[in-house]
Amino acid sequence: MIEELLAGNARFVTGEFRPNDDYYRAIADRQTPKVLWIGCSDSRVSEHQMTDSRPGTMFVHRNVANIVAFNDVNISAILEYGVVHLKIEDIIVCGHTRCGGIAAIEDGVHENYIADWLCIASGAKETADRIARERGLSRDEKLAVLTEENVKLQIKHLENLSLIRNMHARGALPRIHGWLYRVETGTIDVLVDGGAAPRA
Ligand SMILES: [Zn+2]
Repeated sequence: MIEELLAGNARFVTGEFRPNDDYYRAIADRQTPKVLWIGCSDSRVSEHQMTDSRPGTMFVHRNVANIVAFNDVNISAILEYGVVHLKIEDIIVCGHTRCGGIAAIEDGVHENYIADWLCIASGAKETADRIARERGLSRDEKLAVLTEENVKLQIKHLENLSLIRNMHARGALPRIHGWLYRVETGTIDVLVDGGAAPRA
């Protein structure tokens, strides 16, 4: 597998990098991504590939089940660098179908670190439990609800972080969007519309 990855890099250099030398030289000098992506670590949900974007488009944070943890120095540093230094105006929280993290929230897990981590999304399970009871949902339907509720909950977490809350108190930015990527079709559903940049 490792050899395949290195062979893939050779193809990238000859087929993409060198023919677009001007673009890659410009981003080698300075990155100017317009979007901060918060997604799942799942191997099937490559943010640049699913949006047909080149390197340099998005500043990226991925973790199990696309969670925004208030006490996670990693995501806090990425957020601060993204919105303060890179002046990113749009943040996308993207969940996905068939997420192992979401199934683990539903079923419960016993591994220590995974359980602790997924605890941060427990509020989404409470909401999904209630909706599933009210509507008599099947397991698959409930997992779909839980996936969506988790994206909405993580957006709330994001909005409650002091860094973002203070920015929102001063103005509208950053806009926060909630998306769902469908691994079965490759398509993206907009769950939370964060709005568009005003036209100049
Ligand atoms: Zn996932």
